[in-house]
Amino acid sequence: MPKRVGVLALQGDFEAHRVALERAGALALEVRSEAELAGLDGLVIPGGESTTMLRILKDQALLEPLRNFGRQRPIFGTCAGAILLASEVAHPAQESLGLMDLAVERNAYGRQLDSRVVRLVPEPEFARRAGPGELEAVFIRAPIIRRVGPRALVLLRYQGDPVLVSDGPHLAATFHPELAADPRVHKLFLEML
Ligand code: GLN
Repeated sequence: MPKRVGVLALQGDFEAHRVALERAGALALEVRSEAELAGLDGLVIPGGESTTMLRILKDQALLEPLRNFGRQRPIFGTCAGAILLASEVAHPAQESLGLMDLAVERNAYGRQLDSRVVRLVPEPEFARRAGPGELEAVFIRAPIIRRVGPRALVLLRYQGDPVLVSDGPHLAATFHPELAADPRVHKLFLEML
């Protein structure tokens, strides 16, 4: 039976995640309401604009249902989604789901590094779980993870900073694995379900 994975489809690049999840072998379902969270094995919060996503989540009274979902099931947040999962958000500060013990600084690479594609050498833990070999990573106005909690596992780094981290059941990436052809990050998330 394929895993049933929701993709929060309020704003951002949810369509690319739907395609990447299906490529990794999951059944991907767009989520726009509390009712659509029922029966899912996990959820992806895509990249986009975290302030806008947060505003829509509040307008639709979805913030608390998402938090409750995250207390029971794994969530994978990419870029804006990682910002929403973090416990501390700076530059500027904003409210979040607080499901992962992480401090993030938004738009932290500055103007010159608005967007870039790099190759990452996996940490041993990533290589062991997801497979060896360099991984292409697309960064778009990315946050930097400034602190990880004691339970966190750093799976990928860029310039020394964590860019793929798990904390308990959840996974956060500051880059966009849904925009590259390599399915390893989505497969890793499916293994966590
Ligand atoms: N800069 C965006 C934010 O702060 C995130 C960008 C992205 O998701 N690619 O929400």
